[in-house]
Amino acid sequence: MIELSGGLRISKDEYKEKSTNVVSYKEQAERMRTLQSEQRKVVEKMKRIPYKIAVLSSKGGVGKSFVTSNLAIAMSSIGKNVAVLDADFHGPSIPRMLGLSSTRGLLAKEDGSIVPAVGANGVKAVSVGLMLPEEDTPVIWRGALKTTAIRQLLAYTDWEGIEYLFIDLPPGTGDEQLTIAQIIPHLTGFLLVTIPSEVSKHVVKKAAAFARKLNIPLLGIIENMSYFKCPDGSIQYIFGKGAAEEISAEYNIAFLGKIPIDPKIRESNDRGEAFFLKYPDLEASKSFMSIAKKLLEVIEKQNVT
Ligand code: ADP
Repeated sequence: MIELSGGLRISKDEYKEKSTNVVSYKEQAERMRTLQSEQRKVVEKMKRIPYKIAVLSSKGGVGKSFVTSNLAIAMSSIGKNVAVLDADFHGPSIPRMLGLSSTRGLLAKEDGSIVPAVGANGVKAVSVGLMLPEEDTPVIWRGALKTTAIRQLLAYTDWEGIEYLFIDLPPGTGDEQLTIAQIIPHLTGFLLVTIPSEVSKHVVKKAAAFARKLNIPLLGIIENMSYFKCPDGSIQYIFGKGAAEEISAEYNIAFLGKIPIDPKIRESNDRGEAFFLKYPDLEASKSFMSIAKKLLEVIEKQNVT
């Protein structure tokens, strides 16, 4: 038996259990303090980035990472200072699409802050993909860990000088999407990416409804894989037609543009070359340029209203 102050006597086992609880309570309090301090850092750092844009599709495989990375490169070629945060932890493709597939590890400054990698056209990138020992290493994380990772990447990265931060989100409307919407103050808005198929259209409408529910502005919609131009000049609508127009009309969202299907897109992504830089004269690259300019107009208008 162990005697506590006030003459209370408890068994050794009970004492052990109680003291463990005390430690875990202390740990919890400590964790809460860390969380609050990280959240303060997020607020402080995000305040200094004028435009924070999250790219959402709900559906996987529609080319969201491709659109995010190439739109970022196009914005950078207009002269903007751009960074991409890859929040698609289970399928981080941003490094490859920005020409960073051979980059392993991110540097840290003396104060411990993370230095983003510099990809195509000077676009800065932070991705868990850059921290893995190999590109094929899986990230096996539950929701709570992903929420923490997003908060810490936002809080501890050196975002100095960045004007436009694009956040590439995984498919769905769950943990990562909610975290971004809740912890970034004054998120400029969501950008939606769809392909023309009915299946994609219905899922992307959920993303639009999600944004509306959270009162986050919808900056625009981009249709990827819109059509394929055959060698004889005829056009094939492989995935159907009109999905983005329909979503744009139903939700009153700016329709920013269409990107065709082009095997060169798949090839350059597979090779780890930035498509926009490699093929600046192809229709898809011109489309990215026009989308970037339209996005700037939408944001300018938003600032005025
Ligand atoms: P998501 O981020 O939506 O899961 P990705 O950006 O990873 O999708 O793209 C999925 C695959 O489709 C990749 O192999 C990419 O190279 C290819 N891809 C994307 N857009 C196009 C396009 N317009 N034409 C040809 N291939 C494309």
